Amino acid sequence: MGLYLHIPFCNGKCAYCDFYSAFTNEELIDSYLTALIREIKQWGGKINRPIDTIYLGGGTPSLLNYHLVTLLSAVYENFSVTTDAEITLEVNPADNIYEILSNAKKAGVNRISIGAQSGDDTELSVLGRRHTKADTENAVKIARKLGFNNISLDLMLGLPDSSCKSLKNSLDFLIKLNPEHISAYILKIEEKTKFYKQRETLNLPDDDKVSDQYLFMCEYLENKGFCHYEISNFCKGNTASRHNLKYWKCKEYLGLGPSAHSFFEGKRFYYPRDLKAFIKGNSPIADGDGGDLSEQIMLTLRLKDGIKTDILPQNALKKCELFAKNKLAILENNNFSLTNDGMLLSNTIISEILEEF
Ligand code: SF4
Repeated sequence: MGLYLHIPFCNGKCAYCDFYSAFTNEELIDSYLTALIREIKQWGGKINRPIDTIYLGGGTPSLLNYHLVTLLSAVYENFSVTTDAEITLEVNPADNIYEILSNAKKAGVNRISIGAQSGDDTELSVLGRRHTKADTENAVKIARKLGFNNISLDLMLGLPDSSCKSLKNSLDFLIKLNPEHISAYILKIEEKTKFYKQRETLNLPDDDKVSDQYLFMCEYLENKGFCHYEISNFCKGNTASRHNLKYWKCKEYLGLGPSAHSFFEGKRFYYPRDLKAFIKGNSPIADGDGGDLSEQIMLTLRLKDGIKTDILPQNALKKCELFAKNKLAILENNNFSLTNDGMLLSNTIISEILEEF
């Protein structure tokens, strides 16, 4: 089973960001940690499954710095964490990296996910990021020096004024840093963000151009030896994110913190996006049953490995044949999986298939 801990603090708000986070404040961090450890103790008493992945996401969990040791110690004391557990920390390269990563190492973190986002300082500044390209380079260098051998870099595409050429520059920058893993997300303009207010003047590439960027990136990374194992994720060797695979494979996970979602014993539930309510001790909200066949198909089709066709009704199979004929998917050996073109249209393809259930 996986454990997700949401750390809802940031030292600023990026122009595109819709994640739940509040401005950093030491006093609030202390009360939050107390509340999070309270939940860890409560859930630790109820769950007797081994935990083999832990993911600290946010917000900016690296801001916890020396608190990381306290927080993860509480997890080890209250859950049965396997000795080979994958323990990931999302890191903002803008911050005091040497100290943070040293504390992360002490706390048992063994996978670092660095929010690089771009290899161009102008793009980073437009995004409202607090870091520069040099900060990303420095973070990777320090992580390697401290012995981290599983590093993931985040990248964004479809940025204002971007093109395949600018994307190639960012990809080259990331590849040169030799990460084990790259997560690449298409910019989505979410309501209530700074970008939403500025959307008319942002000079965003249109859908066709964004698709060109995505397809270019997939081919480029595959040619550089990365395996495109999920719509937005690429890895070398066996470094696919074990934690995120649980989401896509409909495995159980517990999410603690405001906005964190869980799937446990067939039920989905989440904590509302309300830091103060979480600190006060409000319970998670039920979100219905999960893990049925249609949900499994929806999630698993995101993976390169796809799904076995014997679980599909006859009409859905006919649609799969059509998608394969149009090179949006591969249908062979009783298996159905999306091609890169199909991944771009995954939502439509998945809902077409699910209509037949
Ligand atoms: S650092 Fe991450 S969570 Fe915080 S505002 Fe920026 S994108 Fe959002």
